[in-house]
Order: sequence, then structure tokens, then C-alpha cells
Amino acid sequence: MNIHEYQAKQIFRDHGVTVPEGIPAFSVDEAVEAAEELGGSTWVVKAQIHAGGRGKAGGVKIANSLDEVRTYADDILGKTLVTHQTGPEGKEVQRLYVEQGVDIDRELYLGLVIDRATDSVVLMASTEGGVEIETVAAETPEKILKVAIDPLAGLLDFQARQIAFGLGLEGKTVRQAVGFIKGLYQSFVEKDASTAEINPLVVTGDGELMALDAKMNFDDNALYRHPDLEELRDESEEDPAELEAQEHGLSYVNLDGNIGCMVNGAGLAMGTMDIIKHYGGEPANFLDVGGGADAETVTEAFKLITADERVQVIFINIFGGIMRCDVIADGVVAAVDEVGLEVPLVVRLAGTNVDEGKAILEESTFDIVSADSMSDGAQKAIELLEEQQ
Ligand code: ADP
Ligand code: MG
Repeated sequence: MNIHEYQAKQIFRDHGVTVPEGIPAFSVDEAVEAAEELGGSTWVVKAQIHAGGRGKAGGVKIANSLDEVRTYADDILGKTLVTHQTGPEGKEVQRLYVEQGVDIDRELYLGLVIDRATDSVVLMASTEGGVEIETVAAETPEKILKVAIDPLAGLLDFQARQIAFGLGLEGKTVRQAVGFIKGLYQSFVEKDASTAEINPLVVTGDGELMALDAKMNFDDNALYRHPDLEELRDESEEDPAELEAQEHGLSYVNLDGNIGCMVNGAGLAMGTMDIIKHYGGEPANFLDVGGGADAETVTEAFKLITADERVQVIFINIFGGIMRCDVIADGVVAAVDEVGLEVPLVVRLAGTNVDEGKAILEESTFDIVSADSMSDGAQKAIELLEEQQ
């Protein structure tokens, strides 16, 4: 799960990570009131969407008067921002964050990620702040400092100092950095985050460290432990089909292709996407109905796939283990009966009661293409797709 910048900054604040003063706003008037309440003479009006790159897209504006705050708030609110992280359709801005303007001396980068290669949380830092870290990693990887954190010992002071010196910090800023970085790590661990990123981390004119941007992602499988985080969910930022899937206990990820997939088991679902790609096709989605899927789940999954206008052929690949093939076949027929079938459907069944399952599909009045293996199914799906083009 993702949250907004202002929400992540509140979590940082609670853990002693210094951030500028700021107030979220849901209307232009609220934005102006927020600026008045903050005081001072410089404010930054920031679009709150679940994507980075807002600055370049015109979603972060520095205002030097309350009138300018009003103008920028009016300009940004309701605007569709297209950044490298939103996709070409962009995201509509529904919330703003008004923040005190900070006098920036240096822009740095600081982040925490889970690194599967070292089985640990890795602290990453770079002097190249304010730019996309992916670009730094690709072009000048030597400019990224990394420290793997032992999960039992936690982040040690000397590791934080190592990063602080690596960033070229000096004097009192180094001392502040140790508490700052440890606070970031604590918030990450406490909230079961999967990423925490500060880009830019700045050194102010007074030599103070501040998180000017904040991004946090959380492990969905740990959300049950964090009702407070669940409250921060902004459903308008999430893919509607993925939300619908979650409500029915389906693991669904929307992709760009045109072959709709329904599979039981995450591994088989990955394998199905691989084999489609192998034969030159493009999956429209990842969809795992789960090992114990019943007829009802199959119907819900079928509705999700057929609702996607890009889907031109459907490939159902089910291994009947816990769930028998005949039960799945009944589910498929019931789903087609309820939802209708406007695109070709290929079904590959294997496992328990496969013959009974296949017989049910054959006897149905619907035009369902049966496949004998995964590669047979993928090839048939692609052939049926090509016939339409
Ligand atoms: P994004 O990464 O989505 O573009 P950021 O929050 O990183 O958004 O803001 C973009 C840039 O705007 C920052 O790199 C920084 O230079 C400037 N900026 C952001 N917040 C402030 C602030 N409170 N004061 C001064 N400048 C800011
Ligand atoms: Mg940023």
C-alpha cells in the first residue's frame, strides 16, 4: 500500500525525522488558510498524488505571497498530472499539501529498501539528490552508498555516521544525521514498510537536515497489524479493478497486454504469463484465484477479466489440486453463463478429475477451446488472437 507525502511526513515526524511544517488542504480556501496558519513569507504548494516527479510536471510550486498560494492551489487542484510514475493517463490531484518554504543548501538522497540479495534492509544514500535515483543507479552507480542492516542488531550509530560522512556532512549536521537516519529506520521497521524514500533530503542554509519529500510503501501482508495505516488508504489513488479484486480475495495486477489470464496459484500464474510471452503474446493481467478457489471465486475473477476492454482472448489455466477440475469447470460454465462470452476462451485443466472437468466444458453450449498443456493453451490463445487481427 502507498500513502501520500504528507502522511509519510507525519510518520517521520513521529519518529524524530525532521520535516518542514506543513498542513494538508482539500480546497483552495483551505490551502490559503493553511499558509496563513503556517506564517512566514514563502510556502510550497504541493500536489498530493501517489507518484513522484510532481515537480517537473508542475505539481510543486513555490509561492511568495498568499495570493500566489491561492493562484497555485487553484492551478494544481483538479489538474491531471502526468509524471514518469503515473503512466500516460496521469493522476488527478484531489489533495494539496502546503508547506513552509525551506532554504536549500544541498539536495541529497536517502532511502531504505528490502534487499533480497542480502536478506536485509539496506540503507541507501547519495549526494545526487532531487534527481531520479534510478538514473543515478544506471549511470553513476558509484555515487550510491549502501549499508546492509543486521535485523537483530538494528541500525548502529557507526553505520549512520558512515553514511553521514559519505554524504559529505560536517559538524553538528553529522550529529543530527545519526538520530535522523535511526528515526527513519525505526519508522520503517515499526510500520512494516517495504520502502521509505527521502528525495531530496536537504541540508538547509543553517546546516540542518530535513526531509523535503517523503515516500513510504507498506507490505500489504502486514497491514492487519496496522489499523492506523489502513486508515491512510486513499482508494481514489488505486486501480479500481485491483480494489475490486482485493474485496473478493483475488490477487490481481493490471498489465498492458490483451490476453486475459485466470490461474490458480501465484507460481502457476507467473508461469502462465511467462509462457504467453514466450510464444509472443502479452498478458493483460496477473490473476491468481488462489489454491482453494470455488465456483463463486471463478465467476468473480471472470467478471474482472471481461470488464477489461483490452482483453481479446481469455486463457484459463487451472491445476486441480485442492480444488477438483470438475468443480472448476462447473464454475467456468456458470461464469460464462452469467457474464456472457464475447471473446474466445481457452481452458487448460490438469490434475484431479481432469476428464470429468473437460467433459463438462465440452458438453456446455459455449464455444470453449480446450487445451492439453500450458504451451498448447498459450499457443491456442495467441492463434485465436491473431485470427481477430
Ligand atoms: P517530486 O519528487 O514529486 O518532484 P518533491 O517533493 O521532491 O516532489 O519536490 C520537488 C522539488 O521541489 C524538490 O526537489 C525541491 O527542490 C523543491 N521543494 C519541495 N518541497 C520544498 C520546500 N518545502 N521548500 C523548498 N523547496 C521545496
Ligand atoms: Mg521528490
